[in-house]
Amino acid sequence: MEMAATDIGEALDEVRGQIEKAVQTAGRPSDAVTLVAVSKFHPAAAVEAALRAGQRVFGENRVQEAAEKFPRLREQYPHLRLHLIGGLQTNKAREAVRIADMIESLDRPTLSDALAKAADQEGRMPDLLVEVNTGDEPQKFGVPREKADEFIRQSRMRFGEQLRGLMCIPPAGEDPVPHFRFLRSLADQHGLPVRSMGMSADYPLAIAEGATLVRVGTAIFGARPAGVAGD
Ligand SMILES: *Cc1c(COP(=O)(O)O)cnc(C)c1O
Repeated sequence: MEMAATDIGEALDEVRGQIEKAVQTAGRPSDAVTLVAVSKFHPAAAVEAALRAGQRVFGENRVQEAAEKFPRLREQYPHLRLHLIGGLQTNKAREAVRIADMIESLDRPTLSDALAKAADQEGRMPDLLVEVNTGDEPQKFGVPREKADEFIRQSRMRFGEQLRGLMCIPPAGEDPVPHFRFLRSLADQHGLPVRSMGMSADYPLAIAEGATLVRVGTAIFGARPAGVAGD
């Protein structure tokens, strides 16, 4: 069931309050963390309710779904920013480059090639994050830990400043903190300013460990339909 617009506004206020508290506790600057509202599987009306409540940055997993919802909303809300946060197939690279402001899931050389080609064709390039599979889970997207250093270096050479940072999704049911620390230190080693980590269940912890982007879905928009967790 979809949440009413007022409920989405209230949920956003609650999440913003939690973020502010975590930022203060960590002694970080008040603008250190950006909230990415993950709207996958929720209709455009839910996104619009969040936009009216002042939310600006959104995350979607699937290119197709994002392409259906966002270009129209963007006409009305030109400040909107769209992050693609799901595993990306190379045949979706061009559409992704066309619609996204940031792609958080760069994880292999073939995708780098596809994105570079798409950027040439489209005349624009979104910001990029390398997704690191910090738990080395076989079913997950993301570059494995042992290949991360080299892939980040290559991506930096290829995309320059457009490579902004790193993203991770720690294994479900594990303490996420070691994963957040690993991502943080890897980003620091490479001089990358953006760390995308933390979801509904653990974003305050991620902020304590240096997240600059938190990706929060359920805590804002409510539960997604069963069976479509989407990562
Ligand atoms: C779905 C998803 C989220 C949001 O998860 P919630 O637990 O609903 O906050 C964050 N990041 C990624 C990559 C996702 O796929």
